[in-house]
Amino acid sequence: MGLSHEKVWENCLRIIREDIGEQAYRTWFLPIKPMAIHGDKLTIQVPSEYFYDYLEEHYVHVLKKAVVAEIGPLAKLEYSVIVDQGGDEKRPTLVQYPTQKAPYYSKKNPAPEKPEYKSPFDLRNLGHLAHQSYLNPKYTFDNYIEGTCNQLARSAGLAIAEKPGITSFNPLMIYGTVGLGKTHLVQAIGNEVKNNDDNKFVVYVTSENFTNQVYEALKNRRIEEFNHFYLQVDILIIDDIQFLAGKERTQEILFHIFNQLHGNGKQIVFTSDRPPRDLMNIELQDRLISRFKWGLTADITSPDLETRVAIIQKKLEDDGIEIPTEVIEYVAHTVDTSVRDLEGVIISLIGHASLTRKNIDLELAKQTLKNIVKEIDTEVDIDFIQKTVADYFKLKVDDLVAKTRKKEMVKARQIAMYFCKSLTDHSLKSIGFNFGGRDHTTVIHSVQSVEDQMVTNNTYKAHVDEIKKKLKIKKI
Ligand code: ADP
Ligand code: MG
Repeated sequence: MGLSHEKVWENCLRIIREDIGEQAYRTWFLPIKPMAIHGDKLTIQVPSEYFYDYLEEHYVHVLKKAVVAEIGPLAKLEYSVIVDQGGDEKRPTLVQYPTQKAPYYSKKNPAPEKPEYKSPFDLRNLGHLAHQSYLNPKYTFDNYIEGTCNQLARSAGLAIAEKPGITSFNPLMIYGTVGLGKTHLVQAIGNEVKNNDDNKFVVYVTSENFTNQVYEALKNRRIEEFNHFYLQVDILIIDDIQFLAGKERTQEILFHIFNQLHGNGKQIVFTSDRPPRDLMNIELQDRLISRFKWGLTADITSPDLETRVAIIQKKLEDDGIEIPTEVIEYVAHTVDTSVRDLEGVIISLIGHASLTRKNIDLELAKQTLKNIVKEIDTEVDIDFIQKTVADYFKLKVDDLVAKTRKKEMVKARQIAMYFCKSLTDHSLKSIGFNFGGRDHTTVIHSVQSVEDQMVTNNTYKAHVDEIKKKLKIKKI
């Protein structure tokens, strides 16, 4: 071993960061200081008792995964907590706490035996976890709020969790933009299946991880083992399938695994940030896409106000925290983009209140939101619109400006022009100029064409609305 505590913690942070949202990472992990490492025990300093409780309550699994990956299966974690006893005379002191939840493996409580098959997850040095599902236990149906935005996806998820592989929802494909609860839902399915029948072999894997595993397996000539592992799975959950775009070999391997599992009545669940028909635009093989459509495709959309309020209330209730209704309503009204943004704001609020020892009132909420919104705000100018639209269609900004008349590019170009006209003060002439020196009549034509299609074509309108959301400046 021999790494310093700083280095070990730095590596842990890298792992943790992959697992949790940016806001939570910054609020709960950046304030932590590594203090020492003795053998298998890492000591970290946290700023308050509340902090310690919160970490133990919410992030113990994330911490565990990280320290075990870094230090090994016998890793122990100890907190050094700054305890403020109040009053000026008594300076805050440090108290050591061991971690209480989910005890780490020890000699008395050894890690479970490795299964016979070799897991491709081993390649990430998480060998002793190979018997597990790689599910995060915090994602359950219990804490997944139902709203019109996710009704179909949620009920289909529940149905397959009851009878995996048996319903006609196979595969189940859930799509929606980032932060709307896809990962939560599919992990809840996995956890529920395990709850109902612990013998079921559930595997949750992100597309990126899956791609890396294929790459490592090919490199190490272990592709047979790789296939062998996946063919034993009862429920295979692959998250963010759009990241397989352009990964020909991985798609091919997944295609065969899919066919075999499906043929054997095993359940498969996918998520994607766009509907299957749009996956064609991003280099995903037709034969794979056609398989996605065999079962049920369900979308998740942005939560409405009522659902946002319910989500906030549930999160607070789970944390045992009370916040005045006016604050909840203020946050629900202001943050209308995604559940992830909503959650980020709540986490920040609790974090601020805990660090400043202030109550969470409207004032603090406004203050906190101002800071966060500043970070996510971006000025809408032509560059930003071009970049956002190009990213959305997986094109380059150059494609929007170029002379080409390819259908996909014309569509993206027209939408970008439309937003430049509606969201900036640029004249038609200036917009044309910024799109490869085009004439102002071209801009008029583009804007008109977008407006027409929005009326006649719902899918088209949905695209434009989604891009608009990405461009939207949030107002306080
Ligand atoms: P996605 O995978 O679609 O990007 P996530 O599943 O990661 O989104 O959700 C982002 C955050 O919002 C997660 O912390 C998740 O728990 C929370 N969340 C999303 N939808 C809901 C919901 N309906 N009820 C409660 N929490 C939710
Ligand atoms: Mg996700």
